[in-house]
Amino acid sequence: MHIEENKPLAPFTTFGIGGPARWFVEAASEDDIVEATGWARERELKLFVLGGGSNLLVSDAGFDGLVLRIGLKGILAPRGTHPKTEPEGPWLYGVAAGEDWDHFVQRAVEDGCAGIECLAGIPGTVGGTPVQNVGAYGQEVASTIGLVRAFDLREGVFCEFTNAECQFAYRRSRFNTTERGRYIVTRVDYYLRPGGAPTLRYAELQRAMLDLAPEGRQPSLTEVSATVRRIRAAKGMLLVEGDPDCRSAGSFFKNPVVSEEQLAQIAAVVDKEPPRFPAGPGQVKLPAAWLIEQAGFTKGYSLGAAAVSRRHTLALVNLGGASAAELLALADQINAAVEARFGIQLEMEPVLVGF
Ligand SMILES: Cc1cc2nc3c(=O)[nH]c(=O)nc-3n(C[C@H](O)[C@H](O)[C@H](O)COP(=O)(O)OP(=O)(O)OC[C@H]3O[C@@H](n4cnc5c(N)ncnc54)[C@H](O)[C@@H]3O)c2cc1C
Repeated sequence: MHIEENKPLAPFTTFGIGGPARWFVEAASEDDIVEATGWARERELKLFVLGGGSNLLVSDAGFDGLVLRIGLKGILAPRGTHPKTEPEGPWLYGVAAGEDWDHFVQRAVEDGCAGIECLAGIPGTVGGTPVQNVGAYGQEVASTIGLVRAFDLREGVFCEFTNAECQFAYRRSRFNTTERGRYIVTRVDYYLRPGGAPTLRYAELQRAMLDLAPEGRQPSLTEVSATVRRIRAAKGMLLVEGDPDCRSAGSFFKNPVVSEEQLAQIAAVVDKEPPRFPAGPGQVKLPAAWLIEQAGFTKGYSLGAAAVSRRHTLALVNLGGASAAELLALADQINAAVEARFGIQLEMEPVLVGF
């Protein structure tokens, strides 16, 4: 185990922002995780678990403790659940937490396995996906995760969670709510459908697929994942080397869920019907991007070197050399304007580190 001191964290994040980690180590195995966490415990250090750094805002002062980067690799050869009795049954993929998520999506699509094709192009690691129940374009990982293996920092043992035990909800799980910081995910098992049809639930994706296959034939998984990537690239939501609009953490705010009554109040403020998605009985989910635009922010609006992306109102970007303080000042300004106009407090999606 090679523990480094005062390691700059900015290069490990998609924002490219943040000071150094007092201590830094990369774990390539479950044994490394046990050893590194023991080392931190003996010294009474704070611990932060780093995946791909695509959902973080690290403070300018950095992190005064041990940053443990998850480097566990490997995709176990997929297995049918019951190949004899259920030849059409789902395939199980056991994937190490440090694998690149998008590589795994590509692998599944190449294998002809459906279930995560709409999640193509999302940066970060496999271990990060159950934490906030990653989702986009009509899919979320909660629909395919069978099991999550993790190290319990409190009890010092490895444990496994079924899908129900993960307590998934919109951008939530037990790992980022009730038991935040308690578990280190080491492997995630996904059930995918060999020969399954792609999910075409999201209107924007449905329209794009109609343009591609107007005759109404069912598009392939490859076509759907490629289309998702194209839509993402157009919004700066795909990491492309040298593209300043993707120096972000993706969506900076969650889409708020409000009651029908609140919806009516918002409609009255703007004197038109707000766009929304159903979110359970008596509730709707509002696009945070729409609220932000209605509160007066346009794409490209900037505060110092922090800005609203020129291609997507929901992403805040580092124009180059932005500090974490600048980013947060911009986020505060947006939140205050949305609250003043609509009485809604937006919730940040990225995790704050070292604040
Ligand atoms: C351009 C762009 C587009 C994005 N689009 C989407 C999108 O469409 N949908 C979406 O849901 N998200 C999106 N994101 C956010 C992000 O990619 C996901 O949340 C991703 O799953 C984060 O994984 P990570 O490995 O980068 O985690 P990190 O950013 O490294 O960490 C995020 C949190 O997860 C914890 N964590 C990470 N790995 C582990 C582990 N192994 N065990 C325990 N805790 C862990 C960290 O401690 C931290 O609290 C986007 C981000 C960017 C930059």
